[in-house]
Amino acid sequence: MQRWQALAFAGVVVGTALVPATAGAPPTMAAPPPCSEEPRENPITEFTSYDEMLVELDRIERVSAGRVAVEDVGGSNKGRDMMLARVGTGPKVVFITAEIHGNEKTGPDALLDMLDYLGTSDSTTAQQIRDQLTVVAMPKINPDAGSLDRRGNDMTWQEVQSHFPQLAASPPPWNYITDQRQGDDYSQRPGFDVNRDYHPNLAYQPQPQDFPGSSDKPGWFISPETQTVRDVYTGLQAEFGAVDTYVDLHHQGACYTVPGTDEFVTMSLSGKFVADPNTPEGAAFAEFADSYRPEYSKQLNVAAYNALQSAAERNPDFGNITLYPQDINLPGTGLGAFQLNGSGAVLFEVRGQTQTLGEQHRDMLTRTVYIGLDGILSSLASGEVTELDPAAYDQIPPTDRGQRTLQGTTDIED
Ligand SMILES: [Zn+2]
Repeated sequence: MQRWQALAFAGVVVGTALVPATAGAPPTMAAPPPCSEEPRENPITEFTSYDEMLVELDRIERVSAGRVAVEDVGGSNKGRDMMLARVGTGPKVVFITAEIHGNEKTGPDALLDMLDYLGTSDSTTAQQIRDQLTVVAMPKINPDAGSLDRRGNDMTWQEVQSHFPQLAASPPPWNYITDQRQGDDYSQRPGFDVNRDYHPNLAYQPQPQDFPGSSDKPGWFISPETQTVRDVYTGLQAEFGAVDTYVDLHHQGACYTVPGTDEFVTMSLSGKFVADPNTPEGAAFAEFADSYRPEYSKQLNVAAYNALQSAAERNPDFGNITLYPQDINLPGTGLGAFQLNGSGAVLFEVRGQTQTLGEQHRDMLTRTVYIGLDGILSSLASGEVTELDPAAYDQIPPTDRGQRTLQGTTDIED
């Protein structure tokens, strides 16, 4: 529709009569191009780069008049500073991370927008969030991957072995990428999918027999990126007693649809990442049975979902929200590990990674993340979250993944 209107408008401008730019028979409306998961080289300059993030965090800290504190809490394998921003003085901690996969770029932008708002707004809501919560945000937790615009970090197995001599004879882990992945060539610059490098035991040290491991087993904290995030988490536990809420911001496939419609999924949500430690399937982590709070995770997801459904009254795209597949057991993710440690946990999976959608729909998708985050923070600050019905979570429509299923692969590319 838009393309035809643009062509017709061009015809009006250059001609003296109302002739469309395409002469001949009246055009028939072309069907929208089929959605493709085929990797492409897409520009990403509209997204915030690592260096731009440093500048923006400095600016936010400066204009916030002391409300936002920014610090460097660690280093990536290639030596990039891992930045953390904190705002609010409340007793309840909300920890939010983004871009553990470097080709998933709306999260950092939404987080920077959120920090700007919380640091500068005098609105009642912003004040309430600052009074009731301490928001701790790390916009780019895998900056080497972000700078390469790819999923994995920039680290060899040999480097890991040099840090952990006990692994000298171990094979590399299953999530070590050395070939082609999502259109990126890792053969000269291998790396790990560090979103499988967490362990529910936050003090875990890797053992030789752990490798190669698998997606349904925990990780090992072999990367400096996950070690840094873990150290932030345990530091917050020590300071506040518990990390109330953890949110991790991701992207998923570009072509998933809302069941029974032709609408692409704008974002999927989830509050379930591991088998329940109270059940036989989750017995490997039975020691976490008492701290695991699945109902609270559901309430947090409902808060995000409700905020987006309200926003859908202005833009229906915000309403195309589905539930991420629930039959997963991923104790090697930050969400799985931190959820077992007692945090309410929320996954955002925005439509399309950079190799598929690039910058298409960037504003809308970033706004989707922002609205979802705002729903969670507002609901937590007001206390409303505890009134939300966890059963509403189970009413969120599932995701229609077409031919792509989680069961068909051991490597979820989301
Ligand atoms: Zn991801």
